[in-house]
Amino acid sequence: MIRVTWTGAAGLRFETDKEVILIDPYYTRVGIFDTLFKRIAPDPAAIAAALPAPEKVAAIVVGHTHSDHALDVPWIAARSACKVVGSHSLETLMSLGGLPGRTRVCAGGETVSLTESARVTMIRSAHGLVTLGKGVPFDGEIRATSTLPMKASGYRVGTVFAPLLDLDGRRFLHVGSANFDEAHLRGQSCDVLFLCVPGWKRREGYPRRLIEMTRPSTVVLFHYDNFSKPHVPGTETRRMPLMDMPGMIRAIQGLRPAVELRVPDIGEAMAF
Ligand SMILES: [Zn+2]
Repeated sequence: MIRVTWTGAAGLRFETDKEVILIDPYYTRVGIFDTLFKRIAPDPAAIAAALPAPEKVAAIVVGHTHSDHALDVPWIAARSACKVVGSHSLETLMSLGGLPGRTRVCAGGETVSLTESARVTMIRSAHGLVTLGKGVPFDGEIRATSTLPMKASGYRVGTVFAPLLDLDGRRFLHVGSANFDEAHLRGQSCDVLFLCVPGWKRREGYPRRLIEMTRPSTVVLFHYDNFSKPHVPGTETRRMPLMDMPGMIRAIQGLRPAVELRVPDIGEAMAF
């Protein structure tokens, strides 16, 4: 059995009897004022509360290097011997955090072995068009001349991936931003598809085309939380405003053949 828990923003925790694998772990949940105006850093208390045993993490996979996907990664990686997989921009961030050479740098299309029973294929993807008329926020690469802590704007997007995690023979596709690259997705399929909600209307064919191409049996909606607010365990997830999640749910339910659709709260474990 594989337990998958949405941990806020685009974060997923995969657990089996043998291992813990994280994609885009982000527990610090920097407030909006600090995100806009201050240098930001991982919050050890928030991370420890969400991830009490970082030394048990076998691997961290990162889809892109915006702060809500990558801020906490060097902090966690420094406390475990885990593999780290991501972009050149992630390698730069890890180096700035004192961990040069720890990252398996991917350009897209690589399949990387994580553990005896897990591997990940780093499918090239694209970032959602979430800022009004301005395209991708913080485009480009994290600069090697930066120093930590840096402002959220320094966490540039880098190469964007949709990681396809194969764990014990089950395939989980992580789409952490509402966009996709049809050419790179061709020929890929999955059992469970995780879809970012905000920005879904700005990309023609999202999520319909993604679902048609990858043919999942289950679709899970995530990254719909207001991640600039704290999350109190056991309480309902605070949603981002103005994303028309009911419209996205209707669009998915209208597909043939129908897929199972799940909308978990933060911290709610799903068994696969
Ligand atoms: Zn992003």
